[in-house]
Amino acid sequence: MRWIKKSIWRRRVVWALAAVFAVAGSGRSSGPIGAKAVAQATPRPVAAAAAPTAPGTRFVVVLDAAHGGDDPGGRLNGQSEEAFTLAMGVRLRSLLAARGIQVVTTRESDSTVDLVRRAEMANHANAQVCLSLHGTESGSGVHLYVSNLAPAQPARIAPWKTAQAAWVTRSLALAGTLNSALLQAGMTVTLGRTSLPGVDSMTCPAVAVELAPERAPGKKVTAELDDPGYQARAAEALAAALVEWRGEAPQP
Ligand SMILES: [Zn+2]
Repeated sequence: MRWIKKSIWRRRVVWALAAVFAVAGSGRSSGPIGAKAVAQATPRPVAAAAAPTAPGTRFVVVLDAAHGGDDPGGRLNGQSEEAFTLAMGVRLRSLLAARGIQVVTTRESDSTVDLVRRAEMANHANAQVCLSLHGTESGSGVHLYVSNLAPAQPARIAPWKTAQAAWVTRSLALAGTLNSALLQAGMTVTLGRTSLPGVDSMTCPAVAVELAPERAPGKKVTAELDDPGYQARAAEALAAALVEWRGEAPQP
């Protein structure tokens, strides 16, 4: 009985989060992450999967270290955003690998990877999760962004730039799981919805995870982005969330 209650509770949380996200998303058409987007190459249609999470599929996580190469991203305390996202990706990848989770990365070095290629990699991997990693000096704690596309039924051939619409409901549920794990780890979390070039073309549950310094209520920074302990705490919480997400996926 306990699991049934838990599942009902979880569904309520997801719907409550969906309402929060809807309010957060209504006031903005593009967010801080979308503003840093690299120009897209030729758009093309993408074949959508029949169901948000097909039973029996292997559990694959795509880690998208945003920026890189020609696009250094934002200027962070002591490092560029592209270096920070790569470092967080490496941390998270090793934690997930230690938990038996297969990881696909969109870049492994300071290289230019355009948004179309990143989405193609995620879609080709048939992933159950894509986390697009960002860093910022603005705000506090972890910012979780879900695409602001309106939820849509999966189409046989989904339009390239709005393919995520068929997955938005699952992405909101994923953000809910991430939110719970981060809060449990004592981190500050901000939820939002925004236009996410790249993510908007992905056919999997996808969330942009933007880490900001940790600040005390008086706005004083208590952990900088280059603090290894802070990075480790965030990565551990994200890994715990993905282990939980794997457990929630339909079993074969
Ligand atoms: Zn960024």
